[in-house]
Formats: sequence, C-alpha cells, structure tokens
Amino acid sequence: MRENPFKKMPTILMPDELMDKALRRGEKVAEEFRKKEVPRCLKAKIVEENKVRTIASVVADNLNKVIDKTPPVRKLPKFYQEMVEVLVGIDEFKKCMGAFKWASDLVRKLGNEYAKKIRRAKNPQEAAKLRKEFVGRVKSILKQIHPEMAFIAVAREKLKDLPTFKDTPTVVIAGYPNVGKSTLLKKLTGADVEINSYPFTTKGINVGHMGEIQIIDTPGLLDRPLHERNDIELQAILALNYLADLILFLIDTSEFCGYTIDEQIKLLKEIKELFKIPIFVAINKIDLADEEKIKYLEEELKKLGFDYIKISADKEINLDNLKREIKKRALESYKNKHSN
Ligand code: GDP
Repeated sequence: MRENPFKKMPTILMPDELMDKALRRGEKVAEEFRKKEVPRCLKAKIVEENKVRTIASVVADNLNKVIDKTPPVRKLPKFYQEMVEVLVGIDEFKKCMGAFKWASDLVRKLGNEYAKKIRRAKNPQEAAKLRKEFVGRVKSILKQIHPEMAFIAVAREKLKDLPTFKDTPTVVIAGYPNVGKSTLLKKLTGADVEINSYPFTTKGINVGHMGEIQIIDTPGLLDRPLHERNDIELQAILALNYLADLILFLIDTSEFCGYTIDEQIKLLKEIKELFKIPIFVAINKIDLADEEKIKYLEEELKKLGFDYIKISADKEINLDNLKREIKKRALESYKNKHSN
C-alpha cells in the first residue's frame, strides 16, 4: 500500500498546551508522593524530584512521539515526497523536525540534571527553587521552537488528508472536461469509485479499481492546457508522474464537449511533453461522431505516433478491448518502473 504516510501523525500541541499538560501531570504525581510515609525532611525533595522527572518525560515523550510518527521524507515513495515539497517544502519540514529532536533531547537531559541537583538540595526551599528554575528552562525551550511547532502543525493539516493510493499498476485518465472521463471510470470499475480530497483541486480525485488496476480521474488537473497553470499546480500535476504507470487520454470526437479535435490534440501533445509515462488514447463518443471526424483524428494520431482505440463510454462500445489494452499496458509499464 502507498498508504498516506502522514495519517499517523499526532496532533501537535503548542508550547502552552504542552506545558499545561506536563505541569498537571507533575502535580498529580506529586500528590501521590505526598501521601506516602516518608520522613518529613525527605518528602519535599522527593516530591520536587518526581515533579521534575514527570514534567521532563511528558514534554520529551510528546515531542518524540511526533518524531516517531512522522515518516522520514527521504524514505517515502516519490509521489509523497513531491507532495511534501509542493505543500510545505522538504527542507523546512526537515529543519522543523530537527527542532523537535533538539528540544526533546535537551529537556530530557535537563530533567536528569535537575533531578540530581534536587536530591542534593540542602532544604525544601532550595528543592522548590530548583524545580521552578527547571520549569522556566523548559518553557523557554518550547518558546524557542514555537515557530517550528506551528509549522509542523500546519504541515500535518495539509498532509494528513492526502489520498491513500495502492502500490499497484495505476492508470490516470486525462482529457478536457465533458469528454466522458467520469462516465468511463464508472464503466471500467463497475461504479466502484471513491472520491478523495486532493489539495490542488476542489473537485477531489476519483479512485476506482478494475481488478488489480487502479484507475484515477483527476478533475481539474489534466483537463486544460498546462501552460496556463501556476507553478504549484504544475508541480501537483507532475507529481502524478510518480503515481501513474499509464495515461489514458480521452478525446471526444463528436466535439460536443465544447473543444475541437485540434484543441484536444494540443493538450495531448502537451501532456506527452511533460510526462515520462506511456500514453494510450481512447477516441470516445464514436456513437455520436461522424465518420469524417473520426478519420481525421485517426490520421492525426497516427502521424504523432499515438496508439489508440475507438470506444463509446456511454453506449459501452468496445470497452472490453479497452480494458484488455489498459491492463496490458499498465502492467508492462509498472513492471518496467519497478525493475529500474
Ligand atoms: P468528464 O467531464 O470528462 O468526466 O465527462 P462526463 O463523463 O461527465 O461526460 C460528459 C457527458 O458526455 C455526459 O453527459 C455523458 O453522458 C456523455 N458521454 C460520455 N461518453 C459518451 C459516449 O460515449 N457517447 C455519448 N453519446 N455520450 C457520452
């Protein structure tokens, strides 16, 4: 599974919240120790020492949990690495995770140091003073990494809802709006289609399965000229390179979609320029289009060297052959990708 690796990231507490949590736990533990039968002269020191140890471990454990549950970016599948880069920036993300580690290690170390100092304290007043000093230092460490904590909290919000994709041969459907992409996706998958959110398009991303083949329709992404896109959109589109093993490009030969055949071919050429994966063309709506248009399109595709098939998604013409072609081509491309 290319399971969204950010799903397991815990909620990020801000300095005040984390400090409150640690102090509350410290108080609770102290309460337990106050009840114990210990000579009065020792009790105060034991209480303070345990407060310090508890506060240190709550803070350090919390920061560590974030580190443990956050996947190391460089080890992620390339698609998710691209997502981190586009949505938050890999360098900044790593730098901020480094701050969590620094703070966690330092709080743990200070906790040990202060616990020892408190044990050697001459009287309860000194023990209390050392505990207060420790709390002050932890607060200031957390304050220092406040920007990094805020950054990671925002990054988590952006990353945790990315879709989960299966590690299996994957087809991405492209083509202008209304050419029949969602109709085809439903027909190919028996309407087993899940709508996932995708941060770059309000329309979400539709994922369906045809046996072991995963088929993705990306409304709003691969459905208009790429040169009109801004950098972020373009990067989000190019990330599909890492996800897809085959692009299925749909052309509406009837032109009822509102785009001419030439316009559609232009988009096809643009996609070919930008993607490194095989493209297969489906000439759709052959039930509506006249012979001449189909012939013209076929000639153009041959000239450009594209493999194609003629179908009607809506009238279910030639879909079995299309399924066979998709399966064969996606599997082959998937194997090639994974053998490199
Ligand atoms: P999308 O925007 O590319 O996802 O396009 P849709 O799947 O929503 O299709 C747009 C319109 O074209 C819908 O009204 C479909 O019913 C219709 N349509 C799709 N494929 C065919 C086809 O092969 N023949 C005919 N006649 N209509 C089709």
